Amino acid sequence: ICWSVRGGWHRPRVSPYGPISLDPAAAVLHYGQEVFEGVKAYRHADGSIHTFRPDQNARRMQRSARRLALPELPVPYFVQSLRELIAIDGDWVPSGDDQSLYLRPFMFAKEAFLGVRPAHKVAYYLIASPAGAYFKGGVQPVSIWLSEDYARAGRGGTGAAKTGGNYAASLLPQSEAYEHECDQVVFLDEKRNVEELGGMNIVFVYKDGTLVTPESPSILEGITRDSILQLARDRGHRVQGRAISLDEWREGVASGDITEVFACGTAAVVTPIGTLKGRDFIDAQPTGSLALELRQELTDIQYGRAEDRHNWLVRLDA
Ligand code: PMP
Repeated sequence: ICWSVRGGWHRPRVSPYGPISLDPAAAVLHYGQEVFEGVKAYRHADGSIHTFRPDQNARRMQRSARRLALPELPVPYFVQSLRELIAIDGDWVPSGDDQSLYLRPFMFAKEAFLGVRPAHKVAYYLIASPAGAYFKGGVQPVSIWLSEDYARAGRGGTGAAKTGGNYAASLLPQSEAYEHECDQVVFLDEKRNVEELGGMNIVFVYKDGTLVTPESPSILEGITRDSILQLARDRGHRVQGRAISLDEWREGVASGDITEVFACGTAAVVTPIGTLKGRDFIDAQPTGSLALELRQELTDIQYGRAEDRHNWLVRLDA
Protein backbone atom coordinates (compact mmCIF):
# COMPACT_ATOMS: atom_id res chain seq x y z
CA ILE A 1 0.00 0.00 0.00
CA CYS A 2 1.61 3.23 -1.08
CA TRP A 3 1.00 6.92 -0.81
CA SER A 4 3.37 9.36 -2.38
CA VAL A 5 3.74 13.02 -1.72
CA ARG A 6 3.54 15.47 -4.55
CA GLY A 7 1.41 18.23 -3.14
CA GLY A 8 -0.22 15.84 -0.64
CA TRP A 9 -0.94 12.21 -0.02
CA HIS A 10 -2.31 10.42 -3.06
CA ARG A 11 -4.81 7.60 -3.35
CA PRO A 12 -3.50 4.36 -1.86
CA ARG A 13 -2.71 1.49 -4.17
CA VAL A 14 -2.76 -2.18 -3.22
CA SER A 15 -0.32 -4.39 -5.08
CA PRO A 16 0.97 -7.94 -4.73
CA TYR A 17 4.02 -8.21 -2.48
CA GLY A 18 7.19 -7.75 -4.49
CA PRO A 19 10.33 -5.67 -5.03
CA ILE A 20 10.15 -1.88 -4.93
CA SER A 21 11.83 -0.12 -7.79
CA LEU A 22 14.05 2.75 -6.63
CA ASP A 23 16.31 5.20 -8.39
CA PRO A 24 19.92 4.51 -7.32
CA ALA A 25 20.07 8.16 -6.20
CA ALA A 26 16.97 7.81 -3.96
CA ALA A 27 17.66 9.87 -0.83
CA VAL A 28 16.83 7.02 1.55
CA LEU A 29 19.69 4.89 0.20
CA HIS A 30 22.25 7.59 0.96
CA TYR A 31 20.99 9.61 3.91
CA GLY A 32 18.73 7.15 5.69
CA GLN A 33 15.67 9.39 5.56
CA GLU A 34 13.05 6.88 6.67
CA VAL A 35 10.86 5.94 9.62
CA PHE A 36 8.83 2.87 10.51
CA GLU A 37 6.47 1.30 13.03
CA GLY A 38 5.68 -2.15 14.38
CA VAL A 39 2.07 -3.14 15.05
CA LYS A 40 0.33 -6.47 15.58
CA ALA A 41 -3.12 -7.76 14.64
CA TYR A 42 -4.65 -10.39 16.92
CA ARG A 43 -7.41 -12.90 16.19
CA HIS A 44 -9.91 -13.35 19.00
CA ALA A 45 -11.67 -16.63 19.82
CA ASP A 46 -14.80 -15.47 17.94
CA GLY A 47 -12.70 -14.95 14.79
CA SER A 48 -12.72 -11.12 14.90
CA ILE A 49 -9.47 -9.27 14.23
CA HIS A 50 -8.18 -6.45 16.45
CA THR A 51 -5.15 -4.27 16.78
CA PHE A 52 -3.76 -2.52 19.84
CA ARG A 53 -3.58 1.27 20.30
CA PRO A 54 -2.84 2.03 16.61
CA ASP A 55 -3.39 5.73 17.26
CA GLN A 56 -0.28 5.63 19.46
CA ASN A 57 1.80 4.08 16.68
CA ALA A 58 0.37 6.61 14.21
CA ARG A 59 1.31 9.53 16.47
CA ARG A 60 4.75 8.13 17.16
CA MET A 61 5.27 7.75 13.41
CA GLN A 62 4.32 11.41 13.03
CA ARG A 63 6.87 12.43 15.68
CA SER A 64 9.50 10.24 14.02
CA ALA A 65 8.64 11.74 10.62
CA ARG A 66 8.97 15.29 11.94
CA ARG A 67 12.44 14.51 13.32
CA LEU A 68 13.51 13.00 10.00
CA ALA A 69 12.11 15.94 7.98
CA LEU A 70 9.46 13.68 6.44
CA PRO A 71 5.79 14.66 6.02
CA GLU A 72 3.37 13.47 8.70
CA LEU A 73 0.86 10.84 7.67
CA PRO A 74 -2.56 11.75 9.15
CA VAL A 75 -3.60 9.35 11.95
CA PRO A 76 -6.79 8.18 10.13
CA TYR A 77 -4.76 7.24 7.02
CA PHE A 78 -2.45 5.15 9.15
CA VAL A 79 -5.33 3.25 10.77
CA GLN A 80 -7.13 2.96 7.41
CA SER A 81 -4.05 1.34 5.86
CA LEU A 82 -4.17 -1.39 8.55
CA ARG A 83 -7.87 -1.97 7.85
CA GLU A 84 -7.37 -2.12 4.09
CA LEU A 85 -4.64 -4.67 4.39
CA ILE A 86 -6.83 -6.88 6.59
CA ALA A 87 -9.75 -6.38 4.16
CA ILE A 88 -7.70 -7.97 1.34
CA ASP A 89 -7.46 -11.25 3.22
CA GLY A 90 -8.14 -11.58 6.92
CA ASP A 91 -6.98 -15.21 6.81
CA TRP A 92 -3.44 -13.87 7.13
CA VAL A 93 -4.09 -13.30 10.80
CA PRO A 94 -3.23 -16.61 12.46
CA SER A 95 -5.20 -17.90 15.42
CA GLY A 96 -3.75 -19.46 18.54
CA ASP A 97 -1.72 -18.55 21.58
CA ASP A 98 0.79 -15.77 20.99
CA GLN A 99 0.18 -15.86 17.22
CA SER A 100 -0.36 -12.60 15.39
CA LEU A 101 0.03 -10.78 12.13
CA TYR A 102 2.95 -8.38 12.40
CA LEU A 103 2.30 -5.17 10.48
CA ARG A 104 5.19 -3.00 9.38
CA PRO A 105 4.26 0.52 8.23
CA PHE A 106 7.20 2.48 6.84
CA MET A 107 7.90 5.72 5.05
CA PHE A 108 10.95 6.74 3.09
CA ALA A 109 12.41 9.43 0.84
CA LYS A 110 12.31 8.11 -2.72
CA GLU A 111 13.29 11.32 -4.47
CA ALA A 112 16.45 11.03 -6.53
CA PHE A 113 19.11 13.63 -5.82
CA LEU A 114 22.56 13.65 -4.29
CA GLY A 115 22.45 16.90 -2.31
CA VAL A 116 21.76 16.76 1.41
CA ARG A 117 18.29 18.26 1.87
CA PRO A 118 14.83 16.94 2.81
CA ALA A 119 13.14 15.03 -0.01
CA HIS A 120 9.94 16.23 -1.65
CA LYS A 121 8.86 12.81 -2.80
CA VAL A 122 8.06 10.26 -0.16
CA ALA A 123 6.33 6.89 -0.07
CA TYR A 124 4.38 5.18 2.72
CA TYR A 125 4.13 1.40 2.56
CA LEU A 126 2.59 -1.25 4.73
CA ILE A 127 3.71 -4.87 4.62
CA ALA A 128 2.73 -7.76 6.89
CA SER A 129 4.01 -11.10 8.03
CA PRO A 130 2.51 -13.76 10.32
CA ALA A 131 4.41 -13.93 13.61
CA GLY A 132 4.56 -17.01 15.80
CA ALA A 133 5.23 -17.08 19.53
CA TYR A 134 8.39 -15.09 20.39
CA PHE A 135 9.41 -17.64 23.01
CA LYS A 136 9.20 -21.30 22.07
CA GLY A 137 8.27 -23.30 25.15
CA GLY A 138 7.27 -20.42 27.44
CA VAL A 139 8.78 -17.11 28.46
CA GLN A 140 12.44 -17.41 29.45
CA PRO A 141 14.51 -14.76 31.26
CA VAL A 142 16.98 -13.21 28.82
CA SER A 143 20.59 -12.25 29.34
CA ILE A 144 21.72 -8.81 28.30
CA TRP A 145 25.08 -7.35 27.41
CA LEU A 146 26.09 -3.91 28.65
CA SER A 147 27.41 -1.85 25.76
CA GLU A 148 30.33 0.23 27.10
CA ASP A 149 31.88 1.30 23.81
CA TYR A 150 28.83 2.32 21.83
CA ALA A 151 25.82 4.56 22.27
CA ARG A 152 22.56 4.00 20.45
CA ALA A 153 21.70 7.67 20.23
CA GLY A 154 22.94 10.96 21.62
CA ARG A 155 21.40 14.07 23.08
CA GLY A 156 19.50 15.98 20.40
CA GLY A 157 19.88 13.02 18.03
CA THR A 158 17.24 10.69 16.63
CA GLY A 159 16.93 8.35 19.65
CA ALA A 160 13.23 9.07 20.18
CA ALA A 161 12.41 8.40 16.52
CA LYS A 162 11.83 4.97 15.08
CA THR A 163 14.28 5.31 12.23
CA GLY A 164 16.68 2.85 10.64
CA GLY A 165 19.82 4.75 11.61
CA ASN A 166 19.27 3.99 15.30
CA TYR A 167 19.03 0.30 14.49
CA ALA A 168 22.08 0.49 12.21
CA ALA A 169 23.98 1.96 15.19
CA SER A 170 22.83 -0.93 17.39
CA LEU A 171 23.89 -3.79 15.09
CA LEU A 172 27.57 -3.90 16.03
CA PRO A 173 26.87 -3.78 19.80
CA GLN A 174 24.17 -6.40 19.23
CA SER A 175 26.76 -8.69 17.57
CA GLU A 176 28.99 -8.06 20.57
CA ALA A 177 26.11 -9.23 22.78
CA TYR A 178 25.84 -12.46 20.77
CA GLU A 179 29.60 -13.01 21.04
CA HIS A 180 29.19 -12.84 24.81
CA GLU A 181 26.29 -15.28 24.68
CA CYS A 182 23.74 -12.61 25.48
CA ASP A 183 20.36 -12.21 23.79
CA GLN A 184 20.16 -8.41 23.80
CA VAL A 185 22.24 -5.31 24.34
CA VAL A 186 21.50 -2.50 26.83
CA PHE A 187 22.66 1.06 26.17
CA LEU A 188 23.71 3.84 28.55
CA ASP A 189 23.71 7.58 27.91
CA GLU A 190 26.79 9.81 28.31
CA LYS A 191 26.10 10.14 32.06
CA ARG A 192 25.96 6.35 32.43
CA ASN A 193 22.23 6.38 32.95
CA VAL A 194 20.38 3.37 31.59
CA GLU A 195 18.52 4.00 28.33
CA GLU A 196 16.97 0.95 26.69
CA LEU A 197 17.71 -2.31 24.91
CA GLY A 198 18.28 -2.58 21.15
CA GLY A 199 14.55 -3.07 20.57
CA MET A 200 12.84 -2.90 23.97
CA ASN A 201 12.34 -0.57 26.91
CA ILE A 202 13.48 -1.49 30.40
CA VAL A 203 11.62 -1.38 33.74
CA PHE A 204 12.92 -1.89 37.30
CA VAL A 205 10.71 -3.13 40.13
CA TYR A 206 11.64 -1.94 43.64
CA LYS A 207 11.01 -3.71 46.94
CA ASP A 208 8.30 -1.21 47.89
CA GLY A 209 6.38 -2.01 44.69
CA THR A 210 7.48 1.10 42.76
CA LEU A 211 8.20 0.61 39.06
CA VAL A 212 10.98 2.81 37.69
CA THR A 213 11.68 3.30 34.00
CA PRO A 214 14.21 5.60 32.31
CA GLU A 215 12.81 8.92 31.20
CA SER A 216 15.03 10.33 28.49
CA PRO A 217 14.63 12.35 25.30
CA SER A 218 16.86 9.87 23.46
CA ILE A 219 14.90 6.63 23.89
CA LEU A 220 11.93 5.29 21.99
CA GLU A 221 8.70 5.77 23.92
CA GLY A 222 7.34 2.26 23.83
CA ILE A 223 3.63 1.63 23.62
CA THR A 224 4.00 -1.69 25.43
CA ARG A 225 5.81 0.06 28.29
CA ASP A 226 3.13 2.72 28.53
CA SER A 227 0.42 0.03 28.65
CA ILE A 228 2.23 -2.21 31.15
CA LEU A 229 2.83 0.76 33.45
CA GLN A 230 -0.87 1.67 33.24
CA LEU A 231 -1.82 -1.89 34.24
CA ALA A 232 0.64 -1.65 37.14
CA ARG A 233 -0.92 1.67 38.25
CA ASP A 234 -4.35 0.03 38.07
CA ARG A 235 -3.05 -2.52 40.58
CA GLY A 236 -1.93 0.26 42.93
CA HIS A 237 1.78 0.31 42.04
CA ARG A 238 3.61 3.61 42.03
CA VAL A 239 5.31 4.36 38.70
CA GLN A 240 8.26 6.72 38.19
CA GLY A 241 9.84 7.90 34.97
CA ARG A 242 13.30 9.18 35.92
CA ALA A 243 16.99 8.75 35.27
CA ILE A 244 18.44 5.56 36.70
CA SER A 245 22.18 5.06 36.61
CA LEU A 246 24.06 1.81 36.05
CA ASP A 247 25.37 2.15 39.63
CA GLU A 248 21.85 2.46 41.06
CA TRP A 249 20.83 -0.64 39.10
CA ARG A 250 23.79 -2.77 40.20
CA GLU A 251 23.68 -1.59 43.82
CA GLY A 252 19.89 -2.03 43.93
CA VAL A 253 20.22 -5.63 42.79
CA ALA A 254 23.08 -6.31 45.22
CA SER A 255 21.17 -4.86 48.20
CA GLY A 256 17.84 -6.44 47.30
CA ASP A 257 16.14 -3.04 46.78
CA ILE A 258 15.46 -4.00 43.17
CA THR A 259 13.36 -7.15 43.05
CA GLU A 260 12.76 -7.57 39.29
CA VAL A 261 14.05 -6.18 36.01
CA PHE A 262 12.18 -6.67 32.78
CA ALA A 263 12.12 -5.49 29.19
CA CYS A 264 9.05 -4.79 27.08
CA GLY A 265 8.13 -4.22 23.45
CA THR A 266 5.62 -5.25 20.82
CA ALA A 267 7.55 -8.33 19.66
CA ALA A 268 8.21 -10.12 22.97
CA VAL A 269 5.58 -8.19 25.03
CA VAL A 270 7.39 -8.57 28.39
CA THR A 271 10.52 -10.55 29.12
CA PRO A 272 12.22 -10.86 32.51
CA ILE A 273 15.94 -10.08 32.50
CA GLY A 274 17.89 -12.93 34.10
CA THR A 275 21.50 -11.77 33.71
CA LEU A 276 23.39 -8.55 33.11
CA LYS A 277 26.85 -9.12 31.68
CA GLY A 278 29.54 -6.47 31.35
CA ARG A 279 33.21 -6.60 30.33
CA ASP A 280 34.30 -7.53 33.85
CA PHE A 281 31.20 -8.66 35.72
CA ILE A 282 28.16 -10.91 35.54
CA ASP A 283 25.21 -9.93 37.75
CA ALA A 284 22.38 -12.41 38.19
CA GLN A 285 19.11 -10.48 38.23
CA PRO A 286 16.30 -11.22 40.67
CA THR A 287 13.18 -12.57 39.00
CA GLY A 288 9.73 -12.29 40.52
CA SER A 289 6.19 -12.76 39.39
CA LEU A 290 5.11 -9.21 38.54
CA ALA A 291 6.59 -9.09 35.02
CA LEU A 292 4.87 -12.31 34.04
CA GLU A 293 1.59 -11.31 35.66
CA LEU A 294 1.55 -8.01 33.77
CA ARG A 295 2.46 -9.84 30.58
CA GLN A 296 -0.45 -12.20 31.08
CA GLU A 297 -2.82 -9.35 31.79
CA LEU A 298 -1.77 -7.41 28.70
CA THR A 299 -1.93 -10.40 26.35
CA ASP A 300 -5.33 -11.34 27.79
CA ILE A 301 -6.58 -7.91 26.72
CA GLN A 302 -4.90 -8.12 23.31
CA TYR A 303 -6.38 -11.57 22.58
CA GLY A 304 -9.85 -10.66 23.88
CA ARG A 305 -9.66 -12.91 26.95
CA ALA A 306 -10.01 -10.02 29.40
CA GLU A 307 -12.06 -6.84 29.44
CA ASP A 308 -10.51 -4.02 27.45
CA ARG A 309 -11.13 -1.47 30.19
CA HIS A 310 -8.91 1.23 28.68
CA ASN A 311 -10.43 0.91 25.17
CA TRP A 312 -7.10 -0.01 23.70
CA LEU A 313 -8.36 -2.40 21.02
CA VAL A 314 -9.47 -1.32 17.55
CA ARG A 315 -11.36 -3.82 15.46
CA LEU A 316 -9.90 -4.13 11.97
CA ASP A 317 -12.28 -6.50 10.17
CA ALA A 318 -15.53 -4.60 10.61
N1 PMP B 1 12.81 0.68 22.13
C1 PMP B 1 13.23 0.36 20.88
C2 PMP B 1 14.56 0.81 20.44
C3 PMP B 1 12.39 -0.40 20.04
O1 PMP B 1 12.79 -0.74 18.81
C4 PMP B 1 11.11 -0.81 20.51
C5 PMP B 1 10.22 -1.62 19.62
N2 PMP B 1 9.38 -0.81 18.83
C6 PMP B 1 10.73 -0.44 21.81
C7 PMP B 1 11.61 0.31 22.58
C8 PMP B 1 9.39 -0.81 22.37
O2 PMP B 1 8.35 -0.11 21.72
P1 PMP B 1 6.91 -0.74 21.55
O3 PMP B 1 6.47 -1.17 22.88
O4 PMP B 1 6.08 0.39 21.03
O5 PMP B 1 7.03 -1.88 20.61
